[in-house]
Amino acid sequence: MSAPILYASPTLSVEALKHSIAYKLMFTIGKDPAIANKHEWLNATLLAVRDRMVERWLRSNRAQLSQDVRQVYYLSMEFLLGRTLSNALLAIGIYEDTRAALDGMGLSLDELLQEENDPGLGNGGLGRLAACFLDSMATMALPGRGYGIRYEYGMFKQNIIAGQQAESPDYWLEYGNAWEFPRHGTRYKVRFGGRVQQEGAKTHWLETEEVLACAYDQIIPGYDTDATNTLRLWSAQASNEINLGKFNQGDYFAAVEDKNYSENVSRVLYPDDSTYSGRELRLRQEYFLVSATVQDILHRHWLMHQTYENLTDKIAIHLNDTHPVLAIPELMRVVIDEHQFSWLEAWKVVCQVFSYTNHTLMSEALETWPVEMLGKILPRHLQIIFEINDHFLTGVQAAFPDDSGLLARVSIIDEHNGRMVRMAWLAVIASHKVNGVSELHSDLMVQSLFADFARIYPDRFCNKTNGVTPRRWLALANPALSAVLDETIGQTWRTDLSQLGEITGHRDYPTFINSVQQAKFTNKQNLARYLATKLNVVVSPAALFDVQIKRIHEYKRQLLNVLHIITRYNRIKANPDADWVPRVNIFAGKAASAYYIAKQVIHLINDVAAVVNNDPLMRNRLKVVFIPNYSVSLAQLIIPAADLSEQISLAGTEASGTSNMKFALNGALTIGTLDGANIEMRQHMGEENIFIFGNTAEQVEALRVGGYNPHQYYEQDPELHLALTQIATGVFSPGESNRYSNLFDSLVNLGDHYQLLADYRSYVDTQDKVDALYRQREEWTKRAVSNIASMGYFSSDRTIQEYADEIWKVKPIRL
Ligand SMILES: *Cc1c(COP(=O)(O)O)cnc(C)c1O
Repeated sequence: MSAPILYASPTLSVEALKHSIAYKLMFTIGKDPAIANKHEWLNATLLAVRDRMVERWLRSNRAQLSQDVRQVYYLSMEFLLGRTLSNALLAIGIYEDTRAALDGMGLSLDELLQEENDPGLGNGGLGRLAACFLDSMATMALPGRGYGIRYEYGMFKQNIIAGQQAESPDYWLEYGNAWEFPRHGTRYKVRFGGRVQQEGAKTHWLETEEVLACAYDQIIPGYDTDATNTLRLWSAQASNEINLGKFNQGDYFAAVEDKNYSENVSRVLYPDDSTYSGRELRLRQEYFLVSATVQDILHRHWLMHQTYENLTDKIAIHLNDTHPVLAIPELMRVVIDEHQFSWLEAWKVVCQVFSYTNHTLMSEALETWPVEMLGKILPRHLQIIFEINDHFLTGVQAAFPDDSGLLARVSIIDEHNGRMVRMAWLAVIASHKVNGVSELHSDLMVQSLFADFARIYPDRFCNKTNGVTPRRWLALANPALSAVLDETIGQTWRTDLSQLGEITGHRDYPTFINSVQQAKFTNKQNLARYLATKLNVVVSPAALFDVQIKRIHEYKRQLLNVLHIITRYNRIKANPDADWVPRVNIFAGKAASAYYIAKQVIHLINDVAAVVNNDPLMRNRLKVVFIPNYSVSLAQLIIPAADLSEQISLAGTEASGTSNMKFALNGALTIGTLDGANIEMRQHMGEENIFIFGNTAEQVEALRVGGYNPHQYYEQDPELHLALTQIATGVFSPGESNRYSNLFDSLVNLGDHYQLLADYRSYVDTQDKVDALYRQREEWTKRAVSNIASMGYFSSDRTIQEYADEIWKVKPIRL
């Protein structure tokens, strides 16, 4: 890392900041300081801070252009960045100076920070991973940039009305976006539809509709370095407003899809996480991103090199999941149709340039587009995909002449399910590296989904275990713990997280244990204050905070958590005077707007909360809270306050998880299954420091193959029987006794696809062990310290270093 950045004396810096904030307010925003509101002050502050980063940004860009090194382009349909201002202040080291400057003008930095909207340009883990990666790439001075879509409407806002999720549009640009630079001069035509005409060897794509993609840039500051990164987001020029009436009638999709015209292409983020829906507008969005991006990459390359002959030396394009996979036929099309490459030359370039990250093995999440739809919207690309497939299948036939079913299985076109284009197959065939996101996931990937391809391309598959950025997820989110760490091991863990290992030596010092406990308590008080003021729920910070926050999905098994809560409720009711460890069970997370069962789960959590929280016997013993509208900024508030982290997905379903890492980094203990990165966390922290329960991925598979019978568990476990019967008979929905009969049936009578009942007993017994340990507070905190100490490996800096070395082959630029 470079040396810390030096500044003029603090008072000078504070005076200069005051001056620039006031200047921005008057001359850029055009507002009288005497009457400016908080948003205007916030924007003035953002602009003043942005100014302090522009020089580094220009220098970084200049260095990238001049040093003639390979560039990496990270393509993602989602970037879930979180709020910008605090991160920028931290990165460039002016957090306290800015606080002082605003204080001097009678303003509170903390209040302004809360005013900033949290752009929800992503669904969950996948988009947040992309954001952590940009932060690490900037901090490590790696040349390249991120590309995405500037959705006008981000992830919907979630309100809980009468216990149920209600969606409303998130027009995040309401007060403008002070952080972005519109590049009015950088725009590209993106074409759709039309037809293909052959003229000798030349192919023309004619009579297309067009939309313009306009670039909006934002600076991604590196931490404690002059290096920066750029996120370039594309916006289609829009004219029609979204149909708010239909939103209000609850028909989210009719509202966003109403006018399926090309200019709608960047209007709204699809709110689906880990499920795939084959809507035409989504296909258009995916092509919009890659078409503009490929044009921009080639344009930039030309500026630097004035030739396309060295493309493979100079660019690496990474596909975050299959969503941007059309970049493959698009690059083929451009170099063949517009730059006179031969097929083989073009294919050689493509195969060296692309790499792809797989994020899930679950069939409902795999993208497949009907041949007919793709042919209608992108006729030339369909042609190219067919040709890629022909070449590929010919090669496979020659190499594996004896495997009769192989060709049909690996063909990009799935002929058996209504002629679908399998996007993951295309990604694998064209990429030089394909990675999973945890060891288990990467192993299962080559054993199941891509087993045939692993035979065909034995060197193509690898693992890159996910990580999270310690800047946002520890330094920013948890100032209390950060201060304890700084005092104990110094400050450089922010860019070398492995240094956290040094706190192990302090595990037996009572003063250290005390200060870690004190930091946790402070964070719990902060969360308790939020719950009291925003939700009118009073909780005691002395209780055990048991937290599950993530998208609501059957495979993540929030229902298993609910079954435990109901069991605990029943036990307390039966024996109220026993010595209960007080618990607060906290949930947050959104359900995809069309995902009925997930919405039922939200309803049930709120119904259970109503019954539990209104039962006088539960007072000081059990409380259940659903926090609406989960987001990055809420995650930053909730995670540092957690004692227990719920990572209870069915083994083999969660590719990695990243909130599991954020929690452990902030000193929560994990209760979890042997799934995703939980397994590697256990290896790093030692099995005595994590609560593992339930079947392994192998056992899950064996149960499934052997004929899993959930009814048997229901009959044989009295506590489970009681909890399920209570759900089914309306104990938690007295006004509507059959409200949850579908939910009950899905578990007991329709196969319990995610095997909740099989893991219930092990889960509940393990929760008893959690209680037992929480009674020994010092021992609990020692284990929390062991968790923190072992999280160095899970920094996204480590992850990105591996991508840079082993996949992208890029090196830091010199500044
Ligand atoms: C980290 C994060 C996620 C991912 O959570 P998982 O529990 O790993 O699925 C989702 N949403 C937000 C806002 C996050 O910060």
